[in-house]
Amino acid sequence: MNLIDGKKISLQLQDEIAKEVKQLISEGKKQPHLAAVLVGSDGGSETYVAAKIKACERVGFKSTFVRHPEHVTEEKLLLTVHELNADPDVDGFIVQLPLPRHINEHKILEAVLPSKDVDGFHPINVGRMVLNLPCYVSATPYGIVHLLRKYEIETSGKHCVVVGRSHIVGSPMSILMAKNTALGNCTVTLCHSKTENLKSYTKTADILICALGSPDFITADMVKEGAVVIDVGTTRVASLDSKTGFKLKGDVKFDEVSQKCSFITPVPGGVGPMTIASLLKNTLLAAKKEIYK
Ligand code: NAP
Repeated sequence: MNLIDGKKISLQLQDEIAKEVKQLISEGKKQPHLAAVLVGSDGGSETYVAAKIKACERVGFKSTFVRHPEHVTEEKLLLTVHELNADPDVDGFIVQLPLPRHINEHKILEAVLPSKDVDGFHPINVGRMVLNLPCYVSATPYGIVHLLRKYEIETSGKHCVVVGRSHIVGSPMSILMAKNTALGNCTVTLCHSKTENLKSYTKTADILICALGSPDFITADMVKEGAVVIDVGTTRVASLDSKTGFKLKGDVKFDEVSQKCSFITPVPGGVGPMTIASLLKNTLLAAKKEIYK
């Protein structure tokens, strides 16, 4: 079994980005600028936004953190989005999900200018991704494709099974893997909670991508010998061993599945760090106006 080291690859990608930032600045161009909007004080979201801001510092980006209380109105949040859209210094921004129930998530995400939508969640970016046009690919699927490339994992002609069909992970992942591109050309099966006899599909996967949010759900008997297993799941579970009182658990029962597969991503240290690096990469593309000229 080979461990796919997302932390190492993420740091390599961040080093490449940092070099490009230095180059831009030496050419007299402006420092790339990412803004992050956080609503409320959910522990997970706070951690993710803090990690994104820290990563900005690491690569030499400017960052702005806009915080709203849990009870912020939809109008007020929309106003923030419009202000960031109009700010010429901000190259890209994200609105950290999930949002409180009283806010219409789609309305907020659709208000973000596609050219600043570095999370790749706007329908225009999703549509462009489907049509193979230049776009921001959402960060988690983008990070997974980068990992597959780095580890030279053959995808062409392989059967890829994606478990989970969310708009931010499972669905875009299934589209990318099926594309007629060097890192696609898989035959893809997309499974979800209504899939009957899930194991009959996962057992035939050459590449198994798990994005359910259900700790230890994928067991060894569900995985084919020699498969490549990508674990996207990150669920916080209580833990007395950790200072924070919790630890992150993947969707895959790592100890037993790792005995059987050819490659596997750990949790933490697999897909998670790549998501941040991909967001930085999208922001760099935004600063260089490479997608929307
Ligand atoms: P989500 O929106 O809750 O979607 C979960 C998907 O899993 C749904 O499509 C659901 O099916 C499917 N599902 C749930 N139970 C299932 C079961 N028993 N059998 C088959 N399918 C099942 O979750 P998400 O946003 O995609 O996130 C998934 C996981 O990835 C979470 O743990 C999240 O924290 C993690 N995540 C990690 C990163 C990272 O950077 N590492 C980024 C994003 C998300 P239905 O559609 O039928 O309900």
